[in-house]
Amino acid sequence: MNALTHLTLAQARRLLAAGEVSAVELTEAHLRAIERARHLNAFITETPERALAMARRSDQRRRQGSQGLLEGIPIAIKDLFCTEGIRTTAASRILDGFIPPYESTVTRKLWEAGAVCLGKTNLDEFAMGSANVTSAFGPVRNPWTPPEEPVARVPGGSSGGSAAAVAARLCLGATGTDTGGSIRQPASFCGIVGLKPTYGRCSRFGIVAFASSLDQAGPMARTVEDCAIMLQAMAGFDPLDSTSADLPVPDWAGDARGEVRGLRIGVPKEYRADGMPDEIDRLWQQGAAWLAAAGAEIREISLPHTRYALPTYYIVAPAEASSNLARYDGMRFGLRIEGENLVDTYERTRGEGFGREVRRRILIGTYVLSAGYYDAYYLKALKVRRKIREDFDRAFEHVDAILTPTAPSAAFRIGEKMDDPVAMYLNDVFTVPASLAGLPALSVPAGLSAEGLPLGLQVIGRPFDETTVLRVGRAIEEAADFRHVPHGLAGSEA
Ligand code: GLN
Repeated sequence: MNALTHLTLAQARRLLAAGEVSAVELTEAHLRAIERARHLNAFITETPERALAMARRSDQRRRQGSQGLLEGIPIAIKDLFCTEGIRTTAASRILDGFIPPYESTVTRKLWEAGAVCLGKTNLDEFAMGSANVTSAFGPVRNPWTPPEEPVARVPGGSSGGSAAAVAARLCLGATGTDTGGSIRQPASFCGIVGLKPTYGRCSRFGIVAFASSLDQAGPMARTVEDCAIMLQAMAGFDPLDSTSADLPVPDWAGDARGEVRGLRIGVPKEYRADGMPDEIDRLWQQGAAWLAAAGAEIREISLPHTRYALPTYYIVAPAEASSNLARYDGMRFGLRIEGENLVDTYERTRGEGFGREVRRRILIGTYVLSAGYYDAYYLKALKVRRKIREDFDRAFEHVDAILTPTAPSAAFRIGEKMDDPVAMYLNDVFTVPASLAGLPALSVPAGLSAEGLPLGLQVIGRPFDETTVLRVGRAIEEAADFRHVPHGLAGSEA
Protein backbone atom coordinates (compact mmCIF):
# COMPACT_ATOMS: atom_id res chain seq x y z
CA MET A 1 0.00 0.00 0.00
CA ASN A 2 2.98 2.28 0.48
CA ALA A 3 3.24 2.71 -3.25
CA LEU A 4 -0.10 4.54 -3.31
CA THR A 5 1.02 7.19 -0.85
CA HIS A 6 4.23 7.77 -2.78
CA LEU A 7 2.47 8.67 -6.01
CA THR A 8 2.41 12.25 -7.16
CA LEU A 9 -1.03 13.80 -7.49
CA ALA A 10 -0.66 13.72 -11.28
CA GLN A 11 0.26 10.03 -11.25
CA ALA A 12 -2.67 9.23 -8.97
CA ARG A 13 -5.02 11.03 -11.37
CA ARG A 14 -3.79 8.86 -14.23
CA LEU A 15 -4.20 5.63 -12.25
CA LEU A 16 -7.70 6.65 -11.15
CA ALA A 17 -8.64 7.55 -14.71
CA ALA A 18 -7.34 4.22 -15.98
CA GLY A 19 -9.36 2.39 -13.33
CA GLU A 20 -6.19 0.87 -11.86
CA VAL A 21 -6.95 2.23 -8.43
CA SER A 22 -10.12 3.48 -6.77
CA ALA A 23 -10.59 6.63 -4.73
CA VAL A 24 -11.48 4.41 -1.79
CA GLU A 25 -8.20 2.45 -2.05
CA LEU A 26 -6.19 5.64 -2.39
CA THR A 27 -7.99 7.20 0.56
CA GLU A 28 -7.59 4.11 2.76
CA ALA A 29 -3.84 4.06 2.07
CA HIS A 30 -3.54 7.67 3.18
CA LEU A 31 -5.72 7.19 6.25
CA ARG A 32 -3.41 4.35 7.34
CA ALA A 33 -0.37 6.54 6.77
CA ILE A 34 -1.96 9.30 8.88
CA GLU A 35 -2.58 6.83 11.72
CA ARG A 36 1.04 5.71 11.64
CA ALA A 37 2.34 9.27 11.64
CA ARG A 38 0.40 10.72 14.57
CA HIS A 39 3.71 11.52 16.32
CA LEU A 40 4.21 14.31 13.76
CA ASN A 41 1.07 16.10 15.07
CA ALA A 42 0.41 17.28 11.52
CA PHE A 43 -3.39 17.07 11.88
CA ILE A 44 -5.63 18.84 14.36
CA THR A 45 -8.72 16.97 13.15
CA GLU A 46 -8.74 13.75 11.14
CA THR A 47 -11.92 13.08 9.19
CA PRO A 48 -11.66 9.40 8.19
CA GLU A 49 -15.41 8.69 7.94
CA ARG A 50 -16.03 11.74 5.83
CA ALA A 51 -13.00 10.88 3.71
CA LEU A 52 -14.28 7.37 2.98
CA ALA A 53 -17.79 8.63 2.24
CA MET A 54 -16.38 11.24 -0.14
CA ALA A 55 -14.15 8.62 -1.79
CA ARG A 56 -17.11 6.26 -2.31
CA ARG A 57 -19.12 9.04 -3.89
CA SER A 58 -16.15 9.93 -6.07
CA ASP A 59 -15.84 6.36 -7.33
CA GLN A 60 -19.54 6.41 -8.08
CA ARG A 61 -19.25 9.68 -9.99
CA ARG A 62 -16.33 8.30 -11.96
CA ARG A 63 -18.41 5.29 -13.00
CA GLN A 64 -20.97 7.80 -14.25
CA GLY A 65 -18.29 9.53 -16.33
CA SER A 66 -17.18 12.44 -14.12
CA GLN A 67 -13.90 14.07 -15.13
CA GLY A 68 -13.34 16.40 -12.14
CA LEU A 69 -9.85 17.88 -12.01
CA LEU A 70 -9.21 16.28 -8.60
CA GLU A 71 -11.70 13.41 -8.83
CA GLY A 72 -10.81 10.97 -6.03
CA ILE A 73 -7.65 12.76 -4.86
CA PRO A 74 -7.16 12.73 -1.05
CA ILE A 75 -5.96 16.08 0.26
CA ALA A 76 -5.58 17.85 3.60
CA ILE A 77 -6.86 21.31 4.52
CA LYS A 78 -5.08 23.84 6.70
CA ASP A 79 -7.31 24.36 9.71
CA LEU A 80 -7.77 28.02 8.82
CA PHE A 81 -10.33 27.21 6.09
CA CYS A 82 -13.90 26.97 7.32
CA THR A 83 -15.34 23.57 6.51
CA GLU A 84 -19.05 23.08 6.94
CA GLY A 85 -19.79 20.67 9.76
CA ILE A 86 -16.11 20.05 10.59
CA ARG A 87 -14.60 21.84 13.56
CA THR A 88 -12.33 24.69 12.53
CA THR A 89 -9.86 25.95 15.10
CA ALA A 90 -7.24 28.26 13.52
CA ALA A 91 -5.11 26.42 16.12
CA SER A 92 -6.54 28.73 18.77
CA ARG A 93 -8.40 28.05 21.99
CA ILE A 94 -10.59 31.04 21.27
CA LEU A 95 -12.44 29.10 18.57
CA ASP A 96 -13.17 26.25 20.98
CA GLY A 97 -16.21 24.33 19.81
CA PHE A 98 -16.62 26.27 16.56
CA ILE A 99 -18.21 24.22 13.80
CA PRO A 100 -18.69 26.43 10.75
CA PRO A 101 -22.16 26.46 9.21
CA TYR A 102 -20.62 27.23 5.80
CA GLU A 103 -17.75 26.20 3.54
CA SER A 104 -14.86 28.42 2.39
CA THR A 105 -14.92 29.09 -1.35
CA VAL A 106 -11.53 27.44 -1.93
CA THR A 107 -12.50 24.21 -0.17
CA ARG A 108 -15.90 24.21 -1.86
CA LYS A 109 -14.14 24.40 -5.22
CA LEU A 110 -11.80 21.57 -4.24
CA TRP A 111 -14.71 19.32 -3.28
CA GLU A 112 -16.56 20.26 -6.46
CA ALA A 113 -13.44 19.21 -8.38
CA GLY A 114 -13.79 15.79 -6.71
CA ALA A 115 -11.13 16.00 -3.98
CA VAL A 116 -11.44 13.92 -0.81
CA CYS A 117 -10.97 15.57 2.60
CA LEU A 118 -8.60 13.65 4.91
CA GLY A 119 -8.68 16.22 7.70
CA LYS A 120 -7.61 19.60 8.96
CA THR A 121 -3.92 20.31 9.45
CA ASN A 122 -2.09 22.01 12.28
CA LEU A 123 -0.77 25.57 11.97
CA ASP A 124 0.53 28.45 14.01
CA GLU A 125 -2.28 30.09 15.97
CA PHE A 126 -4.20 32.31 13.52
CA ALA A 127 -1.36 31.65 11.03
CA MET A 128 0.99 33.86 13.04
CA GLY A 129 4.40 32.27 13.06
CA SER A 130 7.20 30.67 11.12
CA ALA A 131 7.68 27.40 12.96
CA ASN A 132 4.27 25.96 13.83
CA VAL A 133 5.15 26.31 17.50
CA THR A 134 2.37 28.73 18.50
CA SER A 135 -0.47 26.23 17.91
CA ALA A 136 -2.76 25.60 20.88
CA PHE A 137 -2.63 21.95 19.74
CA GLY A 138 1.14 21.66 20.16
CA PRO A 139 4.02 21.90 17.71
CA VAL A 140 4.32 19.91 14.48
CA ARG A 141 7.43 17.78 14.01
CA ASN A 142 9.27 17.98 10.73
CA PRO A 143 9.47 14.47 9.19
CA TRP A 144 13.00 15.37 8.02
CA THR A 145 14.32 15.48 11.60
CA PRO A 146 17.54 13.42 11.56
CA PRO A 147 16.79 10.21 13.51
CA GLU A 148 19.74 10.70 15.87
CA GLU A 149 18.48 14.10 17.05
CA PRO A 150 16.52 14.10 20.33
CA VAL A 151 14.68 17.38 19.61
CA ALA A 152 12.54 17.52 16.48
CA ARG A 153 13.04 20.14 13.79
CA VAL A 154 10.21 22.57 13.06
CA PRO A 155 8.30 22.18 9.78
CA GLY A 156 8.22 25.95 9.28
CA GLY A 157 5.05 27.93 9.54
CA SER A 158 2.43 28.83 9.62
CA SER A 159 1.24 26.06 7.25
CA GLY A 160 3.51 23.58 9.06
CA GLY A 161 0.95 20.78 9.39
CA SER A 162 0.14 20.89 5.68
CA ALA A 163 3.84 20.90 4.75
CA ALA A 164 4.67 18.02 7.10
CA ALA A 165 1.66 16.01 5.88
CA VAL A 166 2.64 16.41 2.23
CA ALA A 167 6.31 15.63 2.94
CA ALA A 168 5.46 12.56 5.02
CA ARG A 169 3.18 11.21 2.28
CA LEU A 170 0.02 11.56 4.38
CA CYS A 171 -1.84 13.29 1.53
CA LEU A 172 -1.27 14.01 -2.16
CA GLY A 173 -1.54 17.75 -1.65
CA ALA A 174 -2.74 20.25 0.91
CA THR A 175 -3.99 23.78 1.11
CA GLY A 176 -1.96 26.49 2.80
CA THR A 177 -2.36 30.18 3.34
CA ASP A 178 0.40 32.72 2.99
CA THR A 179 0.37 36.17 4.55
CA GLY A 180 4.12 36.75 4.70
CA GLY A 181 5.58 33.41 3.71
CA SER A 182 3.45 30.75 5.36
CA ILE A 183 3.21 28.55 2.28
CA ARG A 184 6.71 29.07 0.90
CA GLN A 185 8.84 28.86 4.05
CA PRO A 186 7.31 25.58 5.34
CA ALA A 187 7.53 24.19 1.79
CA SER A 188 11.25 24.98 1.87
CA PHE A 189 11.71 23.44 5.34
CA CYS A 190 9.86 20.25 4.36
CA GLY A 191 11.27 19.70 0.86
CA ILE A 192 8.00 20.23 -1.02
CA VAL A 193 6.59 22.75 -3.51
CA GLY A 194 4.37 25.59 -2.31
CA LEU A 195 2.79 28.38 -4.33
CA LYS A 196 1.41 31.66 -3.06
CA PRO A 197 -0.73 32.97 -5.91
CA THR A 198 -1.21 36.64 -6.77
CA TYR A 199 -3.31 38.47 -4.21
CA GLY A 200 -6.89 38.14 -5.47
CA ARG A 201 -6.37 34.91 -7.39
CA CYS A 202 -8.03 32.67 -4.79
CA SER A 203 -11.03 33.75 -2.79
CA ARG A 204 -10.49 34.58 0.86
CA PHE A 205 -14.15 33.89 1.67
CA GLY A 206 -14.39 31.51 4.60
CA ILE A 207 -10.69 31.64 5.49
CA VAL A 208 -10.14 32.83 9.05
CA ALA A 209 -8.70 36.31 8.49
CA PHE A 210 -5.24 37.28 9.70
CA ALA A 211 -4.18 40.30 7.60
CA SER A 212 -6.76 40.78 4.89
CA SER A 213 -4.62 42.82 2.46
CA LEU A 214 -1.97 40.06 2.45
CA ASP A 215 -3.72 36.70 3.05
CA GLN A 216 -3.77 34.33 0.05
CA ALA A 217 -4.62 30.65 -0.19
CA GLY A 218 -2.42 28.37 -2.26
CA PRO A 219 -1.48 24.76 -2.98
CA MET A 220 1.26 22.67 -1.36
CA ALA A 221 2.30 19.43 -3.04
CA ARG A 222 5.32 17.37 -3.97
CA THR A 223 5.77 18.60 -7.53
CA VAL A 224 5.28 21.83 -9.45
CA GLU A 225 2.80 20.07 -11.73
CA ASP A 226 0.75 18.92 -8.72
CA CYS A 227 0.60 22.50 -7.44
CA ALA A 228 -0.49 23.69 -10.87
CA ILE A 229 -3.34 21.18 -10.94
CA MET A 230 -4.49 22.08 -7.44
CA LEU A 231 -4.28 25.81 -8.09
CA GLN A 232 -6.45 25.42 -11.13
CA ALA A 233 -9.17 23.92 -8.96
CA MET A 234 -8.77 26.52 -6.18
CA ALA A 235 -8.58 29.76 -8.17
CA GLY A 236 -11.25 31.93 -9.73
CA PHE A 237 -13.48 34.93 -9.21
CA ASP A 238 -15.75 34.92 -6.19
CA PRO A 239 -18.41 37.61 -5.65
CA LEU A 240 -18.22 36.80 -1.93
CA ASP A 241 -14.70 38.29 -1.71
CA SER A 242 -14.54 41.94 -2.77
CA THR A 243 -10.79 41.67 -3.47
CA SER A 244 -11.15 38.59 -5.65
CA ALA A 245 -9.89 39.19 -9.20
CA ASP A 246 -12.39 38.75 -12.03
CA LEU A 247 -9.97 37.04 -14.39
CA PRO A 248 -10.14 33.74 -16.26
CA VAL A 249 -8.28 30.78 -14.75
CA PRO A 250 -5.55 29.65 -17.17
CA ASP A 251 -4.74 26.03 -17.93
CA TRP A 252 -1.76 25.92 -15.58
CA ALA A 253 -1.27 22.20 -15.63
CA GLY A 254 -0.66 22.40 -19.37
CA ASP A 255 1.09 25.78 -19.61
CA ALA A 256 3.66 25.10 -16.95
CA ARG A 257 5.27 22.59 -19.29
CA GLY A 258 6.69 25.38 -21.44
CA GLU A 259 10.36 26.21 -21.74
CA VAL A 260 12.39 28.85 -19.94
CA ARG A 261 14.58 29.50 -22.97
CA GLY A 262 14.74 33.24 -23.60
CA LEU A 263 13.18 34.19 -20.26
CA ARG A 264 15.00 36.90 -18.33
CA ILE A 265 15.52 35.99 -14.67
CA GLY A 266 16.39 38.69 -12.15
CA VAL A 267 18.69 38.11 -9.20
CA PRO A 268 18.17 40.95 -6.69
CA LYS A 269 21.44 42.11 -5.18
CA GLU A 270 19.74 43.31 -1.99
CA TYR A 271 18.77 39.72 -1.11
CA ARG A 272 22.37 38.93 -0.23
CA ALA A 273 21.39 39.24 3.42
CA ASP A 274 24.07 39.87 6.02
CA GLY A 275 25.14 36.67 7.67
CA MET A 276 23.35 34.50 5.12
CA PRO A 277 24.82 30.99 5.39
CA ASP A 278 27.18 30.06 2.55
CA GLU A 279 25.14 27.01 1.64
CA ILE A 280 22.09 29.18 0.95
CA ASP A 281 24.12 31.52 -1.23
CA ARG A 282 25.66 28.60 -3.10
CA LEU A 283 22.26 27.05 -3.73
CA TRP A 284 20.98 30.36 -5.07
CA GLN A 285 23.92 30.61 -7.49
CA GLN A 286 23.36 27.00 -8.46
CA GLY A 287 19.71 27.81 -9.22
CA ALA A 288 20.74 30.70 -11.47
CA ALA A 289 23.27 28.43 -13.21
CA TRP A 290 20.57 25.78 -13.82
CA LEU A 291 18.25 28.33 -15.38
CA ALA A 292 21.08 29.74 -17.51
CA ALA A 293 21.88 26.21 -18.70
CA ALA A 294 18.21 25.80 -19.65
CA GLY A 295 18.49 28.89 -21.87
CA ALA A 296 17.32 31.68 -19.56
CA GLU A 297 19.21 34.93 -19.27
CA ILE A 298 20.29 35.89 -15.73
CA ARG A 299 20.33 39.58 -14.88
CA GLU A 300 21.26 41.33 -11.67
CA ILE A 301 18.46 43.62 -10.54
CA SER A 302 17.96 46.04 -7.70
CA LEU A 303 15.04 46.12 -5.27
CA PRO A 304 16.30 49.01 -3.14
CA HIS A 305 13.54 49.04 -0.53
CA THR A 306 13.98 45.36 0.36
CA ARG A 307 15.51 46.12 3.73
CA TYR A 308 12.36 47.91 4.82
CA ALA A 309 10.10 45.00 3.94
CA LEU A 310 10.25 43.13 7.26
CA PRO A 311 9.59 46.18 9.48
CA THR A 312 6.81 47.25 7.10
CA TYR A 313 5.21 43.81 7.20
CA TYR A 314 5.43 43.65 10.98
CA ILE A 315 3.45 46.90 11.18
CA VAL A 316 0.85 46.23 8.48
CA ALA A 317 0.13 42.60 9.38
CA PRO A 318 -0.39 43.15 13.14
CA ALA A 319 -2.46 46.29 12.45
CA GLU A 320 -4.86 44.31 10.28
CA ALA A 321 -4.79 41.37 12.67
CA SER A 322 -5.73 43.54 15.65
CA SER A 323 -8.77 44.71 13.76
CA ASN A 324 -9.72 41.29 12.34
CA LEU A 325 -9.38 39.58 15.71
CA ALA A 326 -11.63 42.09 17.48
CA ARG A 327 -14.56 39.83 16.57
CA TYR A 328 -13.48 37.14 19.05
CA ASP A 329 -15.20 38.44 22.13
CA GLY A 330 -16.91 35.34 23.47
CA MET A 331 -20.36 36.57 22.48
CA ARG A 332 -21.18 34.92 19.18
CA PHE A 333 -19.04 31.82 18.78
CA GLY A 334 -16.09 29.99 20.23
CA LEU A 335 -14.79 30.22 23.76
CA ARG A 336 -16.49 32.28 26.46
CA ILE A 337 -15.13 32.67 29.95
CA GLU A 338 -17.79 34.30 32.12
CA GLY A 339 -16.60 37.29 34.10
CA GLU A 340 -18.24 39.56 36.61
CA ASN A 341 -19.60 41.88 33.95
CA LEU A 342 -19.48 42.29 30.18
CA VAL A 343 -16.04 43.91 30.02
CA ASP A 344 -14.61 41.35 32.40
CA THR A 345 -16.05 38.57 30.22
CA TYR A 346 -14.40 40.09 27.13
CA GLU A 347 -11.08 40.41 28.92
CA ARG A 348 -11.03 36.94 30.39
CA THR A 349 -12.15 35.33 27.15
CA ARG A 350 -9.53 37.12 25.06
CA GLY A 351 -6.83 36.87 27.73
CA GLU A 352 -7.20 33.11 28.02
CA GLY A 353 -8.36 32.33 24.50
CA PHE A 354 -5.44 33.89 22.64
CA GLY A 355 -1.88 32.63 22.98
CA ARG A 356 1.19 34.80 23.59
CA GLU A 357 2.15 35.52 20.00
CA VAL A 358 -1.40 36.46 19.04
CA ARG A 359 -1.66 38.77 22.06
CA ARG A 360 1.68 40.34 21.12
CA ARG A 361 0.42 41.04 17.61
CA ILE A 362 -2.86 42.51 18.85
CA LEU A 363 -0.89 44.83 21.13
CA ILE A 364 1.51 45.90 18.36
CA GLY A 365 -1.38 46.34 15.95
CA THR A 366 -3.54 48.45 18.23
CA TYR A 367 -0.48 50.52 19.13
CA VAL A 368 0.46 51.36 15.53
CA LEU A 369 -3.16 52.22 14.75
CA SER A 370 -3.72 54.38 17.82
CA ALA A 371 -4.15 58.15 17.62
CA GLY A 372 -0.73 59.75 17.71
CA TYR A 373 1.09 56.72 16.29
CA TYR A 374 -1.05 56.04 13.25
CA ASP A 375 0.84 58.53 11.04
CA ALA A 376 4.24 57.64 12.41
CA TYR A 377 3.88 53.88 11.95
CA TYR A 378 0.86 52.61 10.06
CA LEU A 379 0.62 55.33 7.43
CA LYS A 380 4.38 55.36 6.96
CA ALA A 381 4.34 51.58 6.52
CA LEU A 382 1.68 51.89 3.82
CA LYS A 383 3.88 54.39 1.96
CA VAL A 384 6.91 52.13 2.18
CA ARG A 385 4.75 49.24 1.02
CA ARG A 386 3.97 51.22 -2.12
CA LYS A 387 7.71 51.82 -2.68
CA ILE A 388 8.36 48.09 -2.39
CA ARG A 389 5.69 47.39 -4.97
CA GLU A 390 7.22 50.03 -7.27
CA ASP A 391 10.65 48.38 -6.95
CA PHE A 392 9.11 45.20 -8.34
CA ASP A 393 7.22 47.06 -11.09
CA ARG A 394 10.49 48.58 -12.27
CA ALA A 395 12.35 45.28 -12.08
CA PHE A 396 9.66 43.55 -14.14
CA GLU A 397 10.32 45.99 -16.97
CA HIS A 398 13.62 44.16 -17.43
CA VAL A 399 12.99 40.62 -16.24
CA ASP A 400 10.22 38.02 -16.47
CA ALA A 401 10.74 36.43 -13.06
CA ILE A 402 12.93 36.81 -10.01
CA LEU A 403 14.99 34.11 -8.30
CA THR A 404 15.86 34.22 -4.58
CA PRO A 405 16.35 31.78 -1.72
CA THR A 406 13.07 30.99 0.08
CA ALA A 407 14.39 31.18 3.63
CA PRO A 408 17.66 32.20 5.27
CA SER A 409 18.20 28.75 6.85
CA ALA A 410 17.09 25.14 6.87
CA ALA A 411 14.63 23.91 9.51
CA PHE A 412 15.76 24.74 13.04
CA ARG A 413 14.92 22.87 16.24
CA ILE A 414 11.68 23.18 18.18
CA GLY A 415 12.48 25.61 20.99
CA GLU A 416 15.00 27.65 19.04
CA LYS A 417 14.12 31.32 18.47
CA MET A 418 11.02 30.90 20.62
CA ASP A 419 11.99 33.46 23.23
CA ASP A 420 13.16 35.94 20.60
CA PRO A 421 10.30 37.14 18.39
CA VAL A 422 12.61 39.23 16.20
CA ALA A 423 14.84 36.24 15.40
CA MET A 424 11.65 34.37 14.48
CA TYR A 425 10.45 37.23 12.25
CA LEU A 426 13.78 37.14 10.34
CA ASN A 427 12.67 33.83 8.79
CA ASP A 428 10.42 35.86 6.53
CA VAL A 429 13.10 38.14 5.12
CA PHE A 430 12.92 36.71 1.58
CA THR A 431 9.20 35.94 1.44
CA VAL A 432 7.65 39.13 2.82
CA PRO A 433 8.50 41.51 -0.07
CA ALA A 434 6.42 39.54 -2.59
CA SER A 435 3.57 39.42 -0.05
CA LEU A 436 3.58 43.18 0.42
CA ALA A 437 3.58 43.60 -3.36
CA GLY A 438 0.83 40.98 -3.81
CA LEU A 439 2.94 38.98 -6.29
CA PRO A 440 2.80 35.26 -7.07
CA ALA A 441 5.74 33.34 -5.60
CA LEU A 442 6.68 29.69 -5.45
CA SER A 443 9.15 27.67 -3.39
CA VAL A 444 10.68 24.60 -4.99
CA PRO A 445 13.06 22.14 -3.28
CA ALA A 446 16.52 22.59 -4.75
CA GLY A 447 18.96 20.76 -2.50
CA LEU A 448 19.95 19.63 0.97
CA SER A 449 21.85 21.49 3.67
CA ALA A 450 25.08 20.08 5.14
CA GLU A 451 22.87 18.53 7.84
CA GLY A 452 20.71 16.76 5.26
CA LEU A 453 17.72 19.10 5.52
CA PRO A 454 15.83 20.45 2.50
CA LEU A 455 16.41 23.94 1.11
CA GLY A 456 14.12 25.74 -1.31
CA LEU A 457 14.50 28.40 -3.96
CA GLN A 458 11.84 31.05 -4.53
CA VAL A 459 10.55 32.26 -7.88
CA ILE A 460 8.59 35.54 -7.89
CA GLY A 461 6.50 36.63 -10.88
CA ARG A 462 4.50 39.52 -12.26
CA PRO A 463 0.95 40.00 -10.97
CA PHE A 464 -1.28 37.18 -12.24
CA ASP A 465 1.60 35.54 -14.09
CA GLU A 466 1.56 32.28 -12.16
CA THR A 467 2.20 30.62 -15.51
CA THR A 468 5.79 31.92 -15.74
CA VAL A 469 6.39 31.23 -12.05
CA LEU A 470 5.33 27.61 -12.52
CA ARG A 471 7.39 27.28 -15.67
CA VAL A 472 10.56 28.55 -13.99
CA GLY A 473 9.80 26.41 -10.95
CA ARG A 474 9.56 23.40 -13.16
CA ALA A 475 12.89 24.11 -14.80
CA ILE A 476 14.55 24.27 -11.37
CA GLU A 477 12.72 21.12 -10.32
CA GLU A 478 14.01 19.26 -13.34
CA ALA A 479 17.58 20.45 -12.90
CA ALA A 480 17.64 19.86 -9.13
CA ASP A 481 16.14 16.38 -9.54
CA PHE A 482 15.29 16.39 -5.82
CA ARG A 483 14.47 12.76 -5.00
CA HIS A 484 15.28 12.75 -1.32
CA VAL A 485 12.58 11.61 1.06
CA PRO A 486 12.26 12.32 4.77
CA HIS A 487 13.99 9.99 7.23
CA GLY A 488 11.89 7.06 8.20
CA LEU A 489 10.17 7.03 4.82
CA ALA A 490 13.31 6.01 2.99
CA GLY A 491 12.83 2.22 2.67
CA SER A 492 9.11 2.55 1.84
CA GLU A 493 9.43 4.09 -1.58
CA ALA A 494 8.49 1.06 -3.64
N1 GLN B 1 5.79 34.20 9.54
C1 GLN B 1 4.96 35.29 9.16
C2 GLN B 1 4.18 35.79 10.35
O1 GLN B 1 4.40 35.28 11.39
C3 GLN B 1 4.05 34.89 8.05
C4 GLN B 1 2.87 34.15 8.51
C5 GLN B 1 1.93 33.86 7.37
O2 GLN B 1 2.30 33.97 6.20
N2 GLN B 1 0.71 33.51 7.71
O3 GLN B 1 3.39 36.66 10.26
